[in-house]
Amino acid sequence: MKIASVIVDVPTSQTNHTFDYQVPKSLQGIVQAGVRVIVPFGRRKVMGFVMELKEESDFDRLKEIEEVLDLIPVLTPELLKLGKWLANEMVSLYIQTYQAMLPSILKASYKKEIEKLTDEDLPESMETIFAGRHVIDYDEFVERQGKLNELRKQIEEGNVRFQYIVKGKENRKQLLFLEAAKDVTLLEEALLDIPKRAKKQREILQFFIQNEHPIEQRILFQQLKTSSSTLQPLVDKGLIKKTYKEIYRNPYEDSQITPTQALPLSEQQNKAIEPIWQSVAGNLHEIFLLHGVTGSGKTEVYLQAIERVLDKGREAIVLVPEISLTPQMVHRFKGRFGKDVAVLHSGLSQGEKFDEWTKIQRKEVKVVVGARSAIFAPFENLGIIIIDEEHETSYKQDEQPKYHAREVAKFRGEYHQCPVVLGSATPILETYARAKKGVYSLLEMPYRMNNNAMPPVEIIDMREELHAGNRTMFSRRLIDAIKDKMDKGEQIVLFLNRRGYSTFVMCRECGETVKCPSCDIALTYHKATDELKCHYCNYHIRMVHECPTCQSLSVRYFGTGTQKVEEALKQLIPEVEIIRMDVDTTRKKGAHERLLSQFSEKKAHILLGTQMIAKGLDFENVTLVGVLAIDTMLQLPDFRSSEKTFQLLTQVSGRAGRHHLPGEVIIQTYTPEHYSIELASQYDYEQFFYKEMEMRKQFRYPPYYYLTLIHVSHPNEIKAYEVTKMITKLLRKHLTDQVTILGPTPSPIVRINNRYRYQCMIKYKNEPNQLATIRKILQYYHDEMIKNDLMIQVDLEPYQLM
Ligand code: ADP
Ligand code: ZN
Ligand code: ZN
Repeated sequence: MKIASVIVDVPTSQTNHTFDYQVPKSLQGIVQAGVRVIVPFGRRKVMGFVMELKEESDFDRLKEIEEVLDLIPVLTPELLKLGKWLANEMVSLYIQTYQAMLPSILKASYKKEIEKLTDEDLPESMETIFAGRHVIDYDEFVERQGKLNELRKQIEEGNVRFQYIVKGKENRKQLLFLEAAKDVTLLEEALLDIPKRAKKQREILQFFIQNEHPIEQRILFQQLKTSSSTLQPLVDKGLIKKTYKEIYRNPYEDSQITPTQALPLSEQQNKAIEPIWQSVAGNLHEIFLLHGVTGSGKTEVYLQAIERVLDKGREAIVLVPEISLTPQMVHRFKGRFGKDVAVLHSGLSQGEKFDEWTKIQRKEVKVVVGARSAIFAPFENLGIIIIDEEHETSYKQDEQPKYHAREVAKFRGEYHQCPVVLGSATPILETYARAKKGVYSLLEMPYRMNNNAMPPVEIIDMREELHAGNRTMFSRRLIDAIKDKMDKGEQIVLFLNRRGYSTFVMCRECGETVKCPSCDIALTYHKATDELKCHYCNYHIRMVHECPTCQSLSVRYFGTGTQKVEEALKQLIPEVEIIRMDVDTTRKKGAHERLLSQFSEKKAHILLGTQMIAKGLDFENVTLVGVLAIDTMLQLPDFRSSEKTFQLLTQVSGRAGRHHLPGEVIIQTYTPEHYSIELASQYDYEQFFYKEMEMRKQFRYPPYYYLTLIHVSHPNEIKAYEVTKMITKLLRKHLTDQVTILGPTPSPIVRINNRYRYQCMIKYKNEPNQLATIRKILQYYHDEMIKNDLMIQVDLEPYQLM
């Protein structure tokens, strides 16, 4: 095959198609579909993905591919197909979509190495280049005219391995080890020659006389309290040698994980898992909704479903929302499947993520547990895809391509003919509606394990507290309950909704809040640095003491952050011990895990935190959950705000009384009569579903209608408005009269980073022309987007209306 069609890394809508390139003789057989190449493009050289190889092109005088970046394709045939479909569906660019599927490090700089894995001789031409070495640079291999065909054959036979080594300080993959370079007798002889006063040098040598195994240099230096300058003469004399060992960066200490075994399933688990097993056994693509209350044992169902998949020699993807990808969750999967598990989430460094991805690519693991992008794991023999907490908004990517992991899962499930399991206690309305209609198979688990009752929920009307003269942020009932639990030696989780509840600064004289000069939103006070920060751009200033508007000195901060809650609570109950978990206290790597284990070791009465603690955590001793402020969530300008409130309250309540101790929940609110609060307190999902469906129908929202949000921004407000207006006009002209087109309207936050933002929305049931029309509109504005700083973003089935 002499011609490759390539998607080039030039992200514009005009270059959003394949370009044909000639494959030079030297690279034939090397260039395959799914590898990255370097190609000339205009006057530049750019990276590109090879889509396919062919014999002929409609164009003549093709340019040649300059370089191949991969010997093993980074995109499988399935992923190539998926990317094409996804880009079309999401109106995004092919190049962006393919890049979203790969670890970001493949975009950064790295070095390529080839490593010999066998003691046997390689073909002679290769042996001369290796020249006795174990590992050589790929670049050197190419420079010295190594034969790529031969190299690839050796890779396929497993004699040689090709790998990327990440450059820069990220790279801790290679660790420096020391080992004896000579026989013990020779070392002993050498010891005699070392003068007595070179005490440290003698210690090092003695160490290697007693230990034949290599030791990491860093550890040896620590143990013997010595350094390189002492070691070097021994290396120079050829007594000790340095070697580099590749070890996977492992963010989880595997040694601390206790292996677990399949538990005998409860009756409802058995009923739920049977259809999944059948679908696994019969290689059937079927979408299941596992609707199970918190604590019903969904995770055990996932684990035992996966077990069957592995028995068949197939692979599994488990998606867990970023926020609940806690060490506890990871342990449950590693405990059951041990080294077969790779973990992918945003807390890992680029290098760590890449290591995990490499294990998947090399088929060294069978299960991946990860956040959204793990849905692209390059498995080629998938047997199941599980999406836990399927209602979580973090499954939707909010940059291009704005895909939802659920839709990708359906594509892959169909491709591999395997089941997709969506699990949740509070499925998103769209999902539950589909399950009710029979589009998905509904599996219900309405009871908690051991039939523990759901903890009773008490709603406290904070308006009454105020009338009774209580001006603190804690109701009297909550304080009493906290004290009671403390007396009993039980623990408490206090949850504070983060949104709108950070501290802002307001002038008491003129009532102005201090805002970001480029984003139109209030700045947030950060006590640790005594700064005011904008949460949208990076703007930050020192805390002001004089009002920027009226120059009075009456500037105060308002609102409640977790830190303020902590202080206020300590004033009411001085002896209380609190562990606070929020973005500030968990910034350092491993802090999250450390705080949780402190809490489970009962080093504090209360775990206080934001969304971060709402999910997945499972503490035996927690018997009270308090929710401090839920109202801010209800008032978001978003048609899903009731649903989100219901979901959050249900999640939070699920944290109490999961084990033998009974639990209780106290919710403080200013709007106790709202149906999402009331029904959440009764754990009545079904009732909430019908009530909310009515609202959606009345206001023409999903699941009755689909939405498309088109978002326009520009430094000039009039321009942003005009373009949006023009777009609505074009849409009205080209779409059927079945659709509703709303806008142009200013976005809820009109200005971010000095760009003005306008939007319009399409509501539709079935609109075959929609994607083509939007694509035409984007084409029409193509030049302005490149030259005139115009931004147009299309979001199909949006989750963020901001
Ligand atoms: P969910 O994911 O639905 O919230 P979990 O999977 O966390 O529920 O299960 C709740 C608790 O019940 C966990 O502590 C789990 O270990 C336990 N559990 C689940 N299934 C079983 C079983 N079949 N036998 C005994 N304990 C179980
Ligand atoms: Zn800002
Ligand atoms: Zn003022």
